[in-house]
Parts: sequence; structure tokens; C-alpha cells
Amino acid sequence: MTELPVLDKSTPGSSAEWAGVRQRVVEFVENECYPAEKEMKKSDDPRAVMKRLQDKAKATGLWALGHPVEIGGQGMPFMDYVYVNEVIGRSELAMVALGTHTLQDSIMLNLYADPIWKERYLAPLVAGEIHPSFAMTEPNVASSDPTQIETSAVQDGDEWVINGHKWFITGALTAEYCTVMCKTDNDAPPHKAFTMIIVPTDTPGFDIVRDVEVMGEKHNHCEIKLTDVRVPLSNTLGPRGEAFVISQRRLGPGRIFHCMRWLGQAQRAFDLMCNRLLERRAFGERLADKQLMQAHVFEAAADIQANRLLTIDAARKMDMGSDARIEIALVKVAGARMVHNVIDRSIQVHGAKGVSEDTPLENMYRQARFARIYDGPDEVHMQSTARRILREFEKGRGWDFGERDLTAYENSNH
Ligand SMILES: Cc1cc2nc3c(=O)[nH]c(=O)nc-3n(C[C@H](O)[C@H](O)[C@H](O)COP(=O)(O)OP(=O)(O)OC[C@H]3O[C@@H](n4cnc5c(N)ncnc54)[C@H](O)[C@@H]3O)c2cc1C
Repeated sequence: MTELPVLDKSTPGSSAEWAGVRQRVVEFVENECYPAEKEMKKSDDPRAVMKRLQDKAKATGLWALGHPVEIGGQGMPFMDYVYVNEVIGRSELAMVALGTHTLQDSIMLNLYADPIWKERYLAPLVAGEIHPSFAMTEPNVASSDPTQIETSAVQDGDEWVINGHKWFITGALTAEYCTVMCKTDNDAPPHKAFTMIIVPTDTPGFDIVRDVEVMGEKHNHCEIKLTDVRVPLSNTLGPRGEAFVISQRRLGPGRIFHCMRWLGQAQRAFDLMCNRLLERRAFGERLADKQLMQAHVFEAAADIQANRLLTIDAARKMDMGSDARIEIALVKVAGARMVHNVIDRSIQVHGAKGVSEDTPLENMYRQARFARIYDGPDEVHMQSTARRILREFEKGRGWDFGERDLTAYENSNH
């Protein structure tokens, strides 16, 4: 495995040893990732551009900050890492450049995979030498309700035989393996009927049908077919029938990191907006002097800060060991709206330039639209959150937000 450099922890600061790291990530994102964004789009060899960024991140001790030390990462504590994600979010290249994109999958491998797969994949995954992918969604069923998933895995001796059709499998074109959610137990209750199975992407019968074009561009969101794919039973990730439990463990902290990255995108759009307002003039004054433009600044500022606090609250509750499902759902939905609306305001302020290739905004806007769909569409989170809260009212307990905060704090080991 590639040797990872030890982080320089001498920087003093609030969260002691980790405080200076966020600023160093800011500098890496601004000085290395921003200029590489355009270069990457125009390059004949985008992988070489990314490799250069990754080498730089490793050399400067910023690689795999949040991965646990025991799997080769730097073990940055959860709350410090939450704030670093906010900065990573500013550039779409930064996750892969800093090696953070494999965090959820490497933790899943470490927790649940057979030793053979840990040995084969874990070290190169954390080192950024290979990529993972995850396949749940199917074109033929509404996958917001994953109990409808049809891809089947049937046991044949000591092998699984997998047949199915998936799509929107991010990264499948370049992934070394795919964790496929399969129906394995037709007679079991719906939430015990599915199993996660590791499928190396070079297994016969694992075919990429197409890189689906989304909003005019290809981003490695693939449609795949699995036809009589045979893999050993030891490829099962975690216990048979536990796919729902495993995917929840994967998604929980992942959603917090998503939300912090959306805040990073919003911050970048906000900065661009304010600078543009100050430099552009119309009808005899700066755009910044017009009240209708000032409203964009106010609304965006309020939206960003409200969502930061909502996200940090969810992260703190999670860190304190609370069941933060409600808080995570609140911020997943509110955060996806926020990032979309802040980028939209920034585009409006920029006029035609805002939808051109001369700012990163048009690309950011496209990405923001996806946020309301992936990791569960808004409506699913709204439904489950409202139901949970209403159940408390049915039981006569109500839902006291303040008391919930105090209880989370009281129950922690503060
Ligand atoms: C950019 C991007 C990347 C993705 N990456 C991956 C990946 O790597 N792996 C993977 O497996 N999947 C991935 N997905 C797919 C994503 O997880 C699914 O699109 C999502 O779960 C919704 O499933 P669906 O598309 O089948 O929508 P459907 O289930 O058909 O839902 C359609 C719409 O119905 C509405 N709806 C659904 N449920 C309810 C409800 N309970 N109440 C009211 N309205 C409701 C919502 O508006 C929803 O958008 C990705 C999607 C995008 C956009």
C-alpha cells in the first residue's frame, strides 16, 4: 500500500491539534482544485490531472483525513472532519483529490467484508488507487422504496448467481468493484429479504449498458446489467438479509458530510455573488446598491447560516450518540433546497455570465439539482420525519425541540 504521510499536528488552535487543518484544506482547494477544474474538462488525460492533485494532497499530509487510523487514514475526529467537509465541498474535484470519496465504502468493507476482500481492496481503496461503486437503484421499479428491488441473487452451492438491471450507479465505469443490493430471501419480511454482495466489475456477466447522460453531460452514472453473474458466497458484505441495516450505517454520517459539502458549494456561490455585486454597474450605480440585489445577499446569508446550524446540530447529536435520524432528515431536505436556491441567486446576479462556462455556477447548479433526489428524494425524508413526529403526538408526548436538545446533551458523556 502507498505510504501515507503523517499529518503535521503541531498547529495550535481551538480543537487543539486539528485546528489548522481546515485552513490548509481551504488553501489546497483554492490553490490546487479551482484551477484544475477547467484544466480537467479540457484535458485529454483528466486522470493525470487528478493524479497530480492526489499526489500533492498526500505530500502535504491532507490525504484521507477522516478515515480511521486502523485502515490507513488519519483518524480526524468526526466533528473536526464535519467542518473540513464544508471546505471540501467548494470544489467538485476536492473529494477525490483529498481521498475522502472512499470513506463510507472503506468503513463498510472494514466492518463487514470477508478477510479476502479486505485484503484485496481496503488498502488500495484508502490509498485512492481503486474506486468503489454502489448499486441499489433500478430503472424498472420506484427505488425510493427499495423493498421493491428486483435484482436477485440465488445460492448455487458455494456461489451466488446474480441477475438484474440497475442504473445511476455512480463511478461504475472506473470502479474496481460494485456493492450490489440483491433480493436473496423471497419469503423473509421485506426488510430482511435483501443482501449486499461484492461484485468485481470484471466478473463475466457484469455489463455496462451506458454512461447515462444527465442534464446534458456524462458523469459516470451508469446503467448496468447483471446476467448470471457468479461470485463466491464469501463476497457477501455483512450478514445475509441485512442490506437495509448496512445501507443505513453507510448513509447516516454520509448525509451529514453531503450537507456540509453543499454548504461549501453555497459559500462559493455566495462569494462569487457578493464580488460580482460590488464590481458591476447598471443604471448609474453598483448592483450592490440596489435593494432588490441586497435581498439576494440577505436571503442567501440567512439560508446558509440556518442550514449550517441545522447541520452542525445534527452532527453534534450524532457525535453525542443520539439517534439523530430526524435532524439528519431535516437537514438533508433543507440543505438540498438551500444549495439550489443560493446558487440560483448567484446565477441571477451574474446575468448571462452565470449560465456560461466562464463561472463554475452552471455546473454547480446542475449538481445541486441532483441533491433533492439522491440519498432518498425529499418526499421520502419528509414523510418519514412527519410520521415519526406525529407518532409522538399520538402517544401524548408531543415534540419539544428544546427538550430534545437538552436530552441529547444530558445523555452524552460531556
Ligand atoms: C446524481 C445521482 C447519483 C446517483 N447515484 C446512485 C448510486 O451511486 N447508486 C444507486 O444505487 N443509486 C444512485 N442514484 C439513484 C437515487 O438513489 C434514486 O434516484 C433515488 O433513490 C430515487 O429513486 P428513483 O429514481 O427510482 O425515483 P422513484 O422511486 O421513481 O421516485 C420518483 C419521485 O416520486 C416521489 N416520491 C417517491 N417516494 C415518495 C413518497 N413516499 N411520498 C411522496 N412522493 C414520493 C419523489 O418526488 C421522487 O423523486 C443516484 C441518483 C442521482 C440523481
